[in-house]
Amino acid sequence: MKHLSTKAIHGAEDPMDNQYGDIVTPIHMSVTFAKERITETEHGYIYSRTANPTRDKLESKLAMLEDAECGLAFSSGMAAETTLLMATLSSGSTIVALDDLYGGTKRLFRIFSEKFKMKIVYVDATSTSNLKKAVKNVNPELVWIETPSNPLLKIVDIRESVEIAHEENALVVVDNTFASPVFQKPLLLGADVVVHSATKYISGHSDVLAGSIMLNNRELCGKMKFLQNALGAVLSAHDSWLLLRSIKTLPLRMKKHEENAMKIAEYLSSHDLVKRVLYPGLTEHPGHEIAKRQMTGFSGMLSFELRGRLKDAVTFVEALKVFKLAESLGGVESLVEIPSLMTHASVPREEREKLGISDTLIRMSVGIEDLEDLLDDISNAFHKLNKQK
Ligand SMILES: *Cc1c(COP(=O)(O)O)cnc(C)c1O
Repeated sequence: MKHLSTKAIHGAEDPMDNQYGDIVTPIHMSVTFAKERITETEHGYIYSRTANPTRDKLESKLAMLEDAECGLAFSSGMAAETTLLMATLSSGSTIVALDDLYGGTKRLFRIFSEKFKMKIVYVDATSTSNLKKAVKNVNPELVWIETPSNPLLKIVDIRESVEIAHEENALVVVDNTFASPVFQKPLLLGADVVVHSATKYISGHSDVLAGSIMLNNRELCGKMKFLQNALGAVLSAHDSWLLLRSIKTLPLRMKKHEENAMKIAEYLSSHDLVKRVLYPGLTEHPGHEIAKRQMTGFSGMLSFELRGRLKDAVTFVEALKVFKLAESLGGVESLVEIPSLMTHASVPREEREKLGISDTLIRMSVGIEDLEDLLDDISNAFHKLNKQK
């Protein structure tokens, strides 16, 4: 079993592992597990926070997706990140991070920095000389990158970041949510830890909140397993089962997400009302060459800036019918949002402008509907906008 779709379907799910040869892994709802004698532990299960047979299958499958030794499932992406920070940092530690991180990650860093006197240094890591300067300066425990990033679709060179970080003995964490394991495998590029909000592409149906961590370092894996049980932010058996089901179509879904996103990015770039399109698949994207090198596809997320003002962006997104106006991403359904009013409203205006998140920046999570319907929807919204002008 070498190829991704076969792994996604059969990986870690052998029907002969269970009593009746179930083709579909059963949901083990039991919280506790009985044994014959006090000293016996032949099946190895004691209590579901520590380990659960359904979650175990999922964790093995998650590891396979990233070509990792170790996979762990949590109740959300943020739960995964919290556990990871607890495992890798101590009071007074330093993190060097990409400036365009997911907002919730920045909030979590802020909490840790206030409570435990940690130092967080944000850099535009698309320039490796920036990154190098910061890493040399502060000698961090962690270098945290997200590529492609949210919402500006910045691309960070993973291999080069790893080289810079490892020179100073820092661990490299890559939030791989936007690419999914189908299009990018940071561990194979030298990264130490991969984080996913499995709520997004890995679930793909906007019906499970989940997070995952994949890594190869055995010692860190042991620490993570200990803390997963100790902190208790585990994924439930039922949600683990839903993800096992979701993952079977992940490679298929990602292909269609990318195909649709590429066509929509091209359409938008040719439109008079669009100032610029941010999609790593476009040759004019500043990270295109790096993306081509380290990804096998450009995924389904894109952002673009509308000409005009905030109210025009509002008119546009409200005119869309097939694209639903909502936060989150990575599901089969197309979603649209305005970062300055929605996902990134908590970032102060000044900081937003410095980062390049303008008022008319619109983010799309392109779904797997028929492309013609998505293009019609966008074209109709532009007509409505033109009429109002
Ligand atoms: C959503 C998201 C998270 C947080 O994950 P939750 O499952 O919502 O807790 C982290 N990183 C990125 C890039 C995300 O999009």
